Amino acid sequence: MRFWRQLRWQIIGAQMLVVIVGVVTLSFTANLLIEQTIPTAQVTPVRTTVIQALAVAALAATIAGLTTSLLLVQIILRSLRNIAGSSQRIAAGRYDERVEVPASDELRAVAESFNQMAEALEQIEQRRITMIGNVAHELRTPLAGIEGYLEGLIDGVLPNTADTFLDMKQEVRRLRRLVDDLQTLSRVEAGQISLHFTTFDINDVIRRVVAQIQPQVLDGCLQMQFASHEHPLLVHADPDRVAQILLNLLGNAVRYTPEGGCITIRSVHTNDEVQVIVEDTGIGIAAEHLPFIFERFYRADPSRARTSGGSGIGLTIARHLAWAMGGDIRAASAGPGKGSTFTLSLPRAG
Ligand code: ADP
Repeated sequence: MRFWRQLRWQIIGAQMLVVIVGVVTLSFTANLLIEQTIPTAQVTPVRTTVIQALAVAALAATIAGLTTSLLLVQIILRSLRNIAGSSQRIAAGRYDERVEVPASDELRAVAESFNQMAEALEQIEQRRITMIGNVAHELRTPLAGIEGYLEGLIDGVLPNTADTFLDMKQEVRRLRRLVDDLQTLSRVEAGQISLHFTTFDINDVIRRVVAQIQPQVLDGCLQMQFASHEHPLLVHADPDRVAQILLNLLGNAVRYTPEGGCITIRSVHTNDEVQVIVEDTGIGIAAEHLPFIFERFYRADPSRARTSGGSGIGLTIARHLAWAMGGDIRAASAGPGKGSTFTLSLPRAG
């Protein structure tokens, strides 16, 4: 009875059942009519005629039923086979595969959602390829630097002194930071980062990160402004991750603000949100770059950012961390040369 599990036989069976029920009902009704309305002498010839008519009707209904069932089955099976074939080709790595969209509403909906899924997979694959390209490109710069130092030392062009090794160490540190950032990025994007939520005063974290970044702010100024000095501004988040985000924002502000510029970090709050605003008077961000700066490896000015040691994924990590804590980060700038403002918002506690 395995064939009853096949769609083809189920549809044909259903049609035949309708034909059988129709014929039986008609014969029963015709018989009743004949017996009640036809004089006894004419019953037999009328019955014979009715039976013949019923036989012809049953045959016609069977042929029509079979033809329509087979046609219907053909249409459904062709779409299903198309989808099955395409999914196999996608599984084999052909992400540009799409299925033909049939005319019927239901099958069209299935085909369209299949095509949407295929498109999403193609985009993911595209991002994966771009990511590998970007990672290779990012690793090449510090590796080329280390190779250059080693070749210089081997050829005797560079002096075998502590300074040379310190310069080399700088490149190694850059490599390590990139690898660490990549690892963090893959973990935050996969949602695998462990967060330790507590309720704490955001102003304490601001003081801590400002003390940490202060040595890097040589000639410029770094100001703090708090929403309230007396009352703690409580948030429910992971204090270390918040510090990591703020260090990244402040680090960028330092990196992209030329000498003599100013950086301000301040806390403000609404009823349900606490915001930390990092504002600088630096190089600013052009409107066309603004929507993309949170994307992996996106740099408004690639050469400048790379030489200043940025990995290009700091903001991507920061935004994912903010999201994981129920917050967000937004960027704003009035344009090149007009400074930038980054706002971290977090859910307020208490
Ligand atoms: P990077 O390591 O290159 O700084 P990020 O992800 O931290 O990477 O930042 C991405 C890009 O956003 C930077 O390359 C830079 O173009 C822009 N950017 C970030 N912060 C600032 C800022 N404070 N001022 C101007 N541009 C900024």
